[in-house]
Amino acid sequence: MTTTTPRVAVVTGGARGIGAATARRLADDGHAVAVLDLLEEQAAEIAEAIASDGGRALAVGADVADVDSVAAAVARVVDELGAPTVLVNNAGILRDNLLFKMSPDDWDAVLGVHLRGAFLMTRAVQAHMVEAGWGRVVNLSSTSALGNRGQANYAAAKAGMQGFTKTLAIELGRFGITANAVAPGFIETEMTRATAERVGVPFEDFVAHAAKETPVGRTGKPEDIAAAVSYFCSQDAGFVSGQVLYVAGGPRG
Ligand code: NAP
Repeated sequence: MTTTTPRVAVVTGGARGIGAATARRLADDGHAVAVLDLLEEQAAEIAEAIASDGGRALAVGADVADVDSVAAAVARVVDELGAPTVLVNNAGILRDNLLFKMSPDDWDAVLGVHLRGAFLMTRAVQAHMVEAGWGRVVNLSSTSALGNRGQANYAAAKAGMQGFTKTLAIELGRFGITANAVAPGFIETEMTRATAERVGVPFEDFVAHAAKETPVGRTGKPEDIAAAVSYFCSQDAGFVSGQVLYVAGGPRG
């Protein structure tokens, strides 16, 4: 039987897409959830939806790539919800381009949000996990970690997330903390919608093509990823650490 002890969870990039579905899923699992995103008013929509379903949530506006912003956000979570012991590093951006056209700014922006962001958030939250002697970190990687045309920056960041995850598992395991990564395939969100727009393909056609390329014959929904994150955050997953789970409708990875 799966048992859930209520915890305080932080989900970055929680205002929409995979982050929003994950925030709602963790709230359904019984956790209090800090929905953290760049704009507090956007995070507030999800926090209000969780509250109206009977859950506990807090909307927090913060930039995960900024040291002071992260410190202030985590302090607010501690004050208003309690010490966080679950962290989902989900915030992400794309700045796709072929290597010869990719600007240093687009490289830095992508590595800044995904890698520096996950580093800063985890560094700030781990102190509370260590104090509690229990913690769960889940990082969002991607099938793009295996290489993807036009995504040198994003692929490097998402492969970096895997090395970061494994190192967290090694360093933090002795404190009762696990760290795992979920690597989604094609998930229907604003992010894939923006990619379709950039390449000039109607989103429905883009989805249909991706579904054809996927062994289970469909594309993913944010809830498919939230379910995997929920497992890694559960009590039952306490002996699973440093793993990368490809959730991609097939064996990619
Ligand atoms: P999304 O719809 O674009 O949502 C990402 C969220 O992150 C947005 O709400 C965004 O805020 C927020 N964010 C961006 N920069 C931030 C920052 N510096 N600080 C705080 N929040 C920030 O993306 P998604 O598709 O749900 O993806 C979520 C995660 O899964 C990402 O890490 C992505 O790389 C990964 N992933 C997605 C797919 C996919 O197919 N969708 C596949 C593999 C991996 P704004 O709206 O204000 O920009």
